[in-house]
Amino acid sequence: MQSHWKVLAWMLAGLIVGLLFQAFLDAPAYSGAKWKAAPGGIELVSVAGPSEGSKLQVGQVYDRVIVHRGKAGEESVVELNDPKDADAVRAAAQNGQILWFVASEDPEAEKPAPLALGMDPDSQRAVWIEPFAFFASIFMGLLKMLIVPLVLASIVSGVASVGALKDLRRLGWKTFAYYIGTSLLAVLLGQLLVNLITPGTGAELGLSPASEIGSHVENPLEILRRMVPTNVVSAMTDNGAMLQIIFFALLLGYFITRSAEPHASRMRDFFESFFQVMMKMAEGILSLLPYGVFALLVKVVAGTGVEPFKALLIYMFTVALALVLHACVTLPLVLKFIGGVSPTRWLKAMGPAIMTAFSTSSSSMTLPVTMKTVEERGGVSNKVTSFTLPLGATINMDGTALYECIGVIFLAQYYASVGGEPLTWTAQALVVVMALLASIGAAGIPSAGLVMMLTILSALNLPVEGAALLLAVDRPLDMMRTVVNVWSDSCGAAVIGNSEGELEMPELA
Ligand code: ASP
Repeated sequence: MQSHWKVLAWMLAGLIVGLLFQAFLDAPAYSGAKWKAAPGGIELVSVAGPSEGSKLQVGQVYDRVIVHRGKAGEESVVELNDPKDADAVRAAAQNGQILWFVASEDPEAEKPAPLALGMDPDSQRAVWIEPFAFFASIFMGLLKMLIVPLVLASIVSGVASVGALKDLRRLGWKTFAYYIGTSLLAVLLGQLLVNLITPGTGAELGLSPASEIGSHVENPLEILRRMVPTNVVSAMTDNGAMLQIIFFALLLGYFITRSAEPHASRMRDFFESFFQVMMKMAEGILSLLPYGVFALLVKVVAGTGVEPFKALLIYMFTVALALVLHACVTLPLVLKFIGGVSPTRWLKAMGPAIMTAFSTSSSSMTLPVTMKTVEERGGVSNKVTSFTLPLGATINMDGTALYECIGVIFLAQYYASVGGEPLTWTAQALVVVMALLASIGAAGIPSAGLVMMLTILSALNLPVEGAALLLAVDRPLDMMRTVVNVWSDSCGAAVIGNSEGELEMPELA
């Protein structure tokens, strides 16, 4: 519990320091773009700073500018007829509004070029923010560094250890079917809600626009084709190639179990030790989390104010709603109709595991409590719990699965509303598959889900800068999704235990 308070306290401190920076340090908005009046509009002379890399064309004469007024849909078009209008544009840019430049004779005119606004790098506030931004980016770097080895080690060791129990094949298939089935239901629920609520559209996140989202996924079969790495080593050099790494890890784990001794057990032991070491490293890096969150919040709040948090609250609400619906509707229905277990009785029995999950934000740390609770208060045999629960703690993460899907689509919605390509349905299908795999690959430790989200974002060409913003408010969501992860593991043990005739619930006092 202590670490939650620490993270939340540093979150608050970051918010306050950021607000103080904003109130007392000067920083005019800055685009890095220069333009001059030209016949028929304004001509762009150069781009630098935040606008670099945007679709703005130097030398192009733009005859209209769209000024963003805050809320979605509140935009007005400024026709640039008069040389004086160049000054009006400058003034609008100074006020920190996002602008789109439109050139009528440009064949791509229906795709206006966004002008990104940032902070003048020479301003007082930018200078003060610099060290915080520096620390935040090192912290994000450390998290990204963990992705490939942690995913590889966690999946290979998980799959290899299951296969070791040869007489448990049937149980294995049932367990996998439950894990994949419930996680898929969770992701689809997340996808439905985020598309209905659209928390990202028109959000004021203050991130630089991106234009190339997901446009490169045309065909659903393409997703399958991309899962197969042509070169494992090069897949491992790319955080965006998570699908391929997971695919390889699943195969490697499986074939370890098919290999003869002593190779099988040597490899199994190696990956198990590798996994334990990686978990230790992750633990060490995550001990910096409160300070990372602090630095990120100072950077965000000092840069863009509390505006982004309005949208982030709606995003958090969407995740929370999906978690509640999954935990209180979907899983109880599965428990009742597939498992034949009373959901209210099971919930009462699972109290200790649920409380531990909430207070640790870690399925792995909760595992001993989950096993004890499911066995003693749930009455599932040790044979079933010792097989399903350790595997479930790293592989079955329904809460994380739906969270990945909502987080990524939320950011994609935001980027689409500031001039990027909207996610196509095929790209959404890719998000669903990747969210599912990310939940399988995520280790059962705090914030693992957020780290995995970075891989989906890079696979979709979305800037990972957005995930830094989500990290700032991740802890409360992490506590909730860990509860759902552990709750789903326990329901799985009940469903499978009952189908094997290995469940006998005791009367609870
Ligand atoms: N903290 C979660 C867990 O351990 C994983 C996540 O970050 O989503 O279950």
